[in-house]
Amino acid sequence: MTTGALTVPQAVPAAVEVHDVHKWYGAHRVLDGVQLTVRPGEVTVILGPSGSGKSTLLRVINHLERPEIGYVSVNGELIGVKRSGDRLKELSERAILAQRSRIGFVFQNFNLFPHLTVLDNVAAAPVATRRLAKPAALELARELLGRVGLADKAGAYPRQLSGGQQQRVAIARALALRPGIILFDEPTSALDPELVGEVLSVIKDLATSGTTLVIVTHEIGFAREVADRIVFIDDGRIVEQGPPAQVLDKPQHERTRDFLSKVL
Ligand code: ADP
Ligand code: MG
Repeated sequence: MTTGALTVPQAVPAAVEVHDVHKWYGAHRVLDGVQLTVRPGEVTVILGPSGSGKSTLLRVINHLERPEIGYVSVNGELIGVKRSGDRLKELSERAILAQRSRIGFVFQNFNLFPHLTVLDNVAAAPVATRRLAKPAALELARELLGRVGLADKAGAYPRQLSGGQQQRVAIARALALRPGIILFDEPTSALDPELVGEVLSVIKDLATSGTTLVIVTHEIGFAREVADRIVFIDDGRIVEQGPPAQVLDKPQHERTRDFLSKVL
């Protein structure tokens, strides 16, 4: 095996490899040399203050943003670029879409299609990407709605559901493309407190079933329970990372201690 900078050394490629990523918005540096490896089946929770770059990092992983420096690979495949000799070249839009369809993304505000029923929301992507014919997609959607406890809401429209139910539909929708990895960006931040638990419980089920998850959240108790690794990010840099017992109970850095004292 060659040892070029772009080669993932393990036999099984990392689920996600973020390599020295820098991202600017104008003169504002939002990610400042982020280096992160997520192994298959691992649950990574990203903590950090508002504005520290957490959403930008997820968006870079999903190729919704391009880093100015650095690259991301998912399952050993470079995201948004390909290697040609020693140069990185932009992929076609079509190739980027194909890569993105292997990554699930769950947003803070659910982002369901308001004009589609719950069932059609979940079935839409497999049909649009031609992975499944409509009847098979509807069957899969029913199965996934059962998995998130919403089998009885298949015919409802998003506006008829609570926020917690809408977010569970969004999770079922993300699962419909059978992604290798799912990214969650503050999935419970927009919910009334009494609805947070039902969404966390669905995510917990995914975590224990071996799905690779990267979750941005401020729910520290949940993070402690599900995370294999906690990554604390501040000002566009990873300040520290490690198992929950290390980062939450024995944080090494003042900034981590300060953050935890505010959210715990
Ligand atoms: P977090 O998710 O940790 O709150 P973000 O990644 O959303 O942080 O944002 C990090 C910084 O980048 C913030 O200062 C934010 O204002 C800025 N930012 C995010 N998106 C954009 C954008 N599209 N254009 C300009 N600045 C942005
Ligand atoms: Mg954010």
